[in-house]
Amino acid sequence: MKIKVSNVNTPNWKDVNVKSHIPAELEKLSELARNIWWSWNFEATELFRDLDPALWKEVGQNPVLLLERMSYAKLEALAEDKVILRRMEDVYSKFRNYMDVKPDSNRPSVAYFSMEYGLNHVLKIYSGGLGVLAGDYLKEASDSNVDLCAVGFLYRYGYFTQTLSMDGQQIANYEAQNFGQLPLDRVLDENGKQVVVDVPYLDYYVHAYLWRVNVGRISLYLLDTDNEMNSEFDRSITHQLYGGDWENRLKQEILLGIGGILTLKKLGIKKDVYHCNEGHAALINVQRICDYVAEGLTYDQAIELVRASSLYTVHTPVPAGHDYFDEGLFGKYMGGYPARMGITWDDLMDLGRNNPGDKGERFCMSVFACNTSQEVNGVSWLHGKVSQEMFAPIWKGYFPEEMHVGYVTNGVHFPTWSATEWKQLYAKHFDENFWYDQSNPKIWEAIYSVPDEEIWKTRMAMKNKLIDYVRKEYRKTWLNNQGDPSRVVSLLDKINPNALLIGFGRRFATYKRAHLLFTDLDRLSKIVNNPDYPVQFLFTGKAHPHDGAGQGLIKRIIEISRRPEFLGKIIFLENYDMQLARRLVSGVDIWLNTPTRPLEASGTSGEKALMNGVVNFSVLDGWWLEGYREGAGWALTEKRTYQNQEYQDQLDAATIYSILEQEILPLYYARNKKGYSEGWIRTIKNSIAQIAPHYTMKRQLDDYYSKFYTKEAKRFKALAANNYAKAKELAAWKEEVVAKWDSIEVVSCEKTEELVKGSLESGKEYTITYVIDEKGLDDAIGLELVTTYTAQDGKQHVYSVAPFEVVKKEGDLYTFQATHKLENAGSFKVAYRMFPKNAELPHRQDFCYVRWFI
Ligand SMILES: *Cc1c(COP(=O)(O)O)cnc(C)c1O
Repeated sequence: MKIKVSNVNTPNWKDVNVKSHIPAELEKLSELARNIWWSWNFEATELFRDLDPALWKEVGQNPVLLLERMSYAKLEALAEDKVILRRMEDVYSKFRNYMDVKPDSNRPSVAYFSMEYGLNHVLKIYSGGLGVLAGDYLKEASDSNVDLCAVGFLYRYGYFTQTLSMDGQQIANYEAQNFGQLPLDRVLDENGKQVVVDVPYLDYYVHAYLWRVNVGRISLYLLDTDNEMNSEFDRSITHQLYGGDWENRLKQEILLGIGGILTLKKLGIKKDVYHCNEGHAALINVQRICDYVAEGLTYDQAIELVRASSLYTVHTPVPAGHDYFDEGLFGKYMGGYPARMGITWDDLMDLGRNNPGDKGERFCMSVFACNTSQEVNGVSWLHGKVSQEMFAPIWKGYFPEEMHVGYVTNGVHFPTWSATEWKQLYAKHFDENFWYDQSNPKIWEAIYSVPDEEIWKTRMAMKNKLIDYVRKEYRKTWLNNQGDPSRVVSLLDKINPNALLIGFGRRFATYKRAHLLFTDLDRLSKIVNNPDYPVQFLFTGKAHPHDGAGQGLIKRIIEISRRPEFLGKIIFLENYDMQLARRLVSGVDIWLNTPTRPLEASGTSGEKALMNGVVNFSVLDGWWLEGYREGAGWALTEKRTYQNQEYQDQLDAATIYSILEQEILPLYYARNKKGYSEGWIRTIKNSIAQIAPHYTMKRQLDDYYSKFYTKEAKRFKALAANNYAKAKELAAWKEEVVAKWDSIEVVSCEKTEELVKGSLESGKEYTITYVIDEKGLDDAIGLELVTTYTAQDGKQHVYSVAPFEVVKKEGDLYTFQATHKLENAGSFKVAYRMFPKNAELPHRQDFCYVRWFI
């Protein structure tokens, strides 16, 4: 046989990357696509959409991908389109005017560190509220023109996309992101090569590529270890957000903290204040200490500088929410650091422990953050209080209410979260300065002069948009996973734009109590099936893949939603992300939130709802405790009636039902001839005028400056001046106090008989005199009389603190005197507290040496 059946060699395929060739006329679009400024400027977003609406939808509203996918012919046609070109020029000049403003040099500069950033649904580097908050913060930093840069991770898989199985089981899908198609830039060095940050681990380095997201004027630097320079084990460090085991989590936190500072060093960036958004990034302070020690400072001197310039924001209300690492694991990766910090291994471990020296205690990132940051804050007034309690074990010697731990209540970035229709309404009726003065309540009062009908029309337009979206987007999903097509069709038919629509969207953590509404199904069924007052609920949210209970909640809601009496009345929408959040918080009538008090540190989605004329109905917890005003929404009291959570849940559920039946529904359906309820519009107006201005991200950013950044930057500058003179002086003083602390002696004490016996009279003054031998210290000791009472909660609280004054000094002997007067009669406890005294200390917890005596 001469002819073989076939004769084929193997092709040698060559990879060819075809970059989209953008015609010169459209170059500006490429630049716009690579700055996510477009995501909060609707003229820009709409410009991209109108280039090719079908493709825009197909590419998931990602302009980089849009331009890449557009055929050259299409692009050429656009380059001829005068209208598009004019719009592009308009948007571009607005962008340039914005970008060309130099950062405000009057305000301190800030480096910001966070595990996640929710900037836009296209960039899947966020999971929930923490990330959205960080993303909103960067956008506002840009709008407010402050000098800030941020560090985070570019995750290969990010957080998961949620689908549901036929029986309501959550399925987590991790989709690899193609970085080339995202609104990102590679950070390049002078030779045009992508910058690599080398981060030491054990006895080798992990190499991270550096990327940059342009958030308006702000640079967000993202580290990415998924590259061929690293071993399999290390490539996965930046694969998933909150994925992997504890070892991987530690490796991530080393990358964020140590790697974060090394990134800034590599780029030659120095900032005044280092802000740690949640404890994950706390190891920035390890690296910063190492750097000062390498400059020749001692640890004691270095920590003064690091602490003075660090702020730690905690977002968790319970100790279980923090990250803890076993000594063995922590030592495996961090063992080399103490030598470089100028301390011992035990010293480092102790910086992460509530009880230094307790070998059984694991290293807690939050405790470490507290011990190495001058300022610490929670994210609402109540959460600030809760955090004072939570961190009280770190600073023994002071009562929770005496802690320096403060708060800044979270806000939301108004241009991101208010719908275009609302922005247009505000632009029409509000002062022209509105954008720059968003947190000014005076400006928002103008909502009262907007005609009711216009508000109602805008609300209805947004509601219809949401319903259309649900009908279109979920039809296919539901036909796939609900089995019964006729049920899906009937469900879709039942969605009724005239019904009161209530939204509930957030992570399915159990404390958020998504199940609360379903406590009494008969009663709920009566409410949703009342023909006069129809109500519908939209639920959405993801449960963490390791959170079985959270996934169980989703399953239960799915089951309930399929019962005939709830079909089309309770609807679950898969895959809650920022895109769905935007539609929901603007499309529903009421935003419902039912957390277990006081576990909602702040919550922000209700604030997003505010800006869209959506009214809140929520437990008085987190931000709503501060935000709620009568006549501007509905609230469940912050008081717990029962210790037993099950009883409390039942009571809260019953309250929800009755507020719905007796207040919300009658008000909503009190429709006038024009088809809307005037009372409802009044509630909307009250909510916008009285609450919204206080929850903008601008207010939040300004608070961070006025409460923390400005103060810290000023103190840091003073400590660092003249080759760190003040820092060295303060460290030396502390060392001296520490050396003599135990030898300080109470030489004598004069108290009246009544004080000794403990039987006093209200309103009467008692004088107390102490003589203390400071053992060579120069007026370094303070003394105060602390009076406490036992409150209802069974805990001891501070009633008063009376300072002693130094009235005489003879050699080392200091005479202290105080007068003590109790205004009230009752039972108290009294003790004397000795502490190191120095006007240079920012607060007592900065040098937490305390000796109590009687
Ligand atoms: C705003 C937002 C959150 C935060 O919601 P909470 O009110 O804090 O529960 C979570 N996920 C997404 C997608 C959001 O947009």
